[in-house]
Amino acid sequence: METAKKILVIEDEQDIQTLLDYNLSQAGFEIILCENGEDGLLLAIESQPDLILLDWMLPLLSGIEVLRQLRSRMDTRDIPVIMLTARGEEGDRLRGLDGGADDYVTKPFSPAELLARVRAIIRRQTRGYDAKLTGGDIELDLEQKRVKRDGTSIHLGPTEFRLLEHFMRNQGRVYSRDQLLDSVWGNDVYVGMRTVDVHIRRLRKAINITGGPDMIRTVRSMGYSFEVRD
Ligand code: CA
Repeated sequence: METAKKILVIEDEQDIQTLLDYNLSQAGFEIILCENGEDGLLLAIESQPDLILLDWMLPLLSGIEVLRQLRSRMDTRDIPVIMLTARGEEGDRLRGLDGGADDYVTKPFSPAELLARVRAIIRRQTRGYDAKLTGGDIELDLEQKRVKRDGTSIHLGPTEFRLLEHFMRNQGRVYSRDQLLDSVWGNDVYVGMRTVDVHIRRLRKAINITGGPDMIRTVRSMGYSFEVRD
């Protein structure tokens, strides 16, 4: 039998701890709980979890400091981290992503949403970096940097390729322009929101040449997602 994936939860708010413990245990994960940054860091080193859920505001050592130390150590550097931030702490979120967090979730969050993020990251971790991603009749070859739709080769620029890769790794999830900027363009602060639309348009045009259904969904006033439709 497959051993349960271990998740370390570093969170000082009792009710959120309970919520996470309950939902993640139900989903088959092994949970390690702790409520301050110092213990969290030690437990991460000792127990080598598959994923860490890290609160931003913590006693003894802040979330961002825990993250910094995790990323500076060889033995914890590659453990995925999802930061938990309070609503409106936009600056924290960006600093968290800069600091090496893999994702973030804003409180209050729905357990289903959090679980989806956790599963997506663990799946990515477990499979490593697949040489090929597929979604519907689209196939993306990461080694050869080639894209095919229904067997037809499609030419994409490097940005469109990264966009498509990001969408295909996270199929069905809606991303705001802001989130796409973070994930696809990284720290390039000179790129604006309009740029995202331009590249989405190019990507859409390129992958729809075969006349199949449009897989890029525009979600009004929210953003975009990649969805396989029959
Ligand atoms: Ca807290």
